[in-house]
Amino acid sequence: MRADSPTFSFEFFPPRTPEAAEILYQTIRDLESYMPHFVSVTYGAGGSTRDLTHDLVERIQHTTKLDPIPHLTCVCHNEEEIEAILFRYAKAAIGNILTLGGDRPRDIPYDKSRDSFQHAIDLVKFIRRFNESGAHPDRRGFGVGVAGFPEGHPATPNRLVEMDHLKAKVDAGADYIVTQLFFDNRDFLDFRERCALAGIHVPIMAGIMPITSMSGFKRIAELAGGARFPARLLRALQRCENDREMVKRVGVHFALEQCHDLLDNHVAGIHFYTLNRSDATRIIFDSLGIPRRRKAQALTL
Ligand SMILES: Cc1cc2nc3c(=O)[nH]c(=O)nc-3n(C[C@H](O)[C@H](O)[C@H](O)COP(=O)(O)OP(=O)(O)OC[C@H]3O[C@@H](n4cnc5c(N)ncnc54)[C@H](O)[C@@H]3O)c2cc1C
Repeated sequence: MRADSPTFSFEFFPPRTPEAAEILYQTIRDLESYMPHFVSVTYGAGGSTRDLTHDLVERIQHTTKLDPIPHLTCVCHNEEEIEAILFRYAKAAIGNILTLGGDRPRDIPYDKSRDSFQHAIDLVKFIRRFNESGAHPDRRGFGVGVAGFPEGHPATPNRLVEMDHLKAKVDAGADYIVTQLFFDNRDFLDFRERCALAGIHVPIMAGIMPITSMSGFKRIAELAGGARFPARLLRALQRCENDREMVKRVGVHFALEQCHDLLDNHVAGIHFYTLNRSDATRIIFDSLGIPRRRKAQALTL
């Protein structure tokens, strides 16, 4: 990741239906010309959705100019399975992995004690060992990203201890941090300062999700548990809640203002949660005045 210019990335999730797949592939075509530094693909807990992630990552790798980064989680995995996935991604010349604890599955019985890796740090260490084995065609092996939570992670209410856990992940070999979405930049900027005070000096990419509908807005509140919605945003959404087009404009404008402010504050990168749609991300990207990159300028994280 370069220090002199910010990194941009787009996040997708694997589609579950042919119609959803069509929307996603159109989105990928729309966004490809922006040449983000990488695109990431989320990872579920069930076997079939997991194959969708692996397949999508390989499809992006083989059929587009984009650099895909798979998310990989501890939940519902043993060591052999993780190793097999690493071999598969190494064979496909995937360069980076976003290494996560993973959300608890909601619709299948789950016993955490049966997971080989209890926390993301265990997975970070395992990938580092895999890298050292020389199994990756690139002698540097996989680059490793981890998650950070500017507003705190619900499982660790003690914020000092939580920062210790994040520092341990970085010390174990994480190269960069991608944050949970947030709507108040002060939370991110303070988090970045607290990381620096804790001795965490890897790049921190800010997670931004433009609100594009009232239903999406309510879903975010559910999924990103603990996300704080500033009164200024809520007031604007309340004013237009019955006008779908206006809600979208308000959400995109709010996210655009966040991005301008982050760039003014020398953010290392912005990670867009696209929800598999391109329009909001394109409007924001175009309005930020960022020159499009060529593939030759692609960077190694
Ligand atoms: C950018 C981003 C992408 C994501 N993508 C996905 C995805 O694709 N699929 C998915 O299922 N989920 C995803 N998530 C959600 C994430 O997996 C969950 O929020 C998970 O609960 C936390 O993940 P983590 O990687 O921080 O886990 P961890 O680092 O394991 O932390 C989880 C909790 O355990 C605590 N902890 C960490 N280490 C220790 C330790 N040694 N001892 C005790 N406690 C410890 C932490 O403080 C934290 O509270 C994503 C989150 C982000 C921010």
